[in-house]
Amino acid sequence: MTAPKADGDAADAGNAANAVNAVTPTPAVKAQGTRVVEASFVAGAVEAKGLLAPTFAEVAFAGRSNVGKSSLLNTMVERRGLVRTSKTPGCTRQLNVFDVRCSDGLRVQFVDLPGYGWARRSKAERTQWQSMIEGYLLHRASLRAVAVLVDVRRGIEEEEDQLLEFLASPRPVSESKPLEVVLVATKIDKLGAAARKPALDAVRKQASTRVAGRAIGFSAVTGDGREELWSRIRAAVL
Ligand code: GDP
Repeated sequence: MTAPKADGDAADAGNAANAVNAVTPTPAVKAQGTRVVEASFVAGAVEAKGLLAPTFAEVAFAGRSNVGKSSLLNTMVERRGLVRTSKTPGCTRQLNVFDVRCSDGLRVQFVDLPGYGWARRSKAERTQWQSMIEGYLLHRASLRAVAVLVDVRRGIEEEEDQLLEFLASPRPVSESKPLEVVLVATKIDKLGAAARKPALDAVRKQASTRVAGRAIGFSAVTGDGREELWSRIRAAVL
């Protein structure tokens, strides 16, 4: 199977049913940094209550549809097609949990939250998404970090802002340290080198009242940002 091409603007707008578009960096790019020796799908659930009891620290990934979340997850775990994306409206939307083991023994669970894009969805769907996600984010004791993905070219829009505001509020679970929120600006390769820092600064500034720490520029094509994201994850879970 050949690797799907990274998107152009036309592909961004496209909505091929059940398309598996996720990209991953070439082997030469990914053979550095954190090595993942095992990554497997554990379970999916349509509501947080349906998840198995927590066993390892969890890191959740949130972002609007097409932001590059599947590609980022595959890049993080060095697998080409572990996380698939379906862009069919109305298809089952669930929390998907992946077990990830690194060569240095770090074990963590990645939780892929269903993509949002509320403007295009019905009120019923929005309500369902919100209660599923908020229930998980609020009550899951094993949750240590949430990566909020933003397309670097779009920046933070209303939904991202609402999510960041929600994440900034206290959780009714006992935790030794506060939930780490990591802002990730995706598809950084789409910008020329000179435009990257200003774009990242702009994203950070937009979120500055809600998130501490800089935004990570990430590319599933070049692997940029992968190690920085792993290091933020390590700091949060260890
Ligand atoms: P998801 O819906 O958030 O899971 O997004 P996908 O991972 O399926 O990516 C959506 C589209 O963006 C696909 O066409 C990918 O090929 C493309 N894409 C994802 N990540 C990157 C990236 O880092 N760089 C570029 N150029 N394209 C990307």
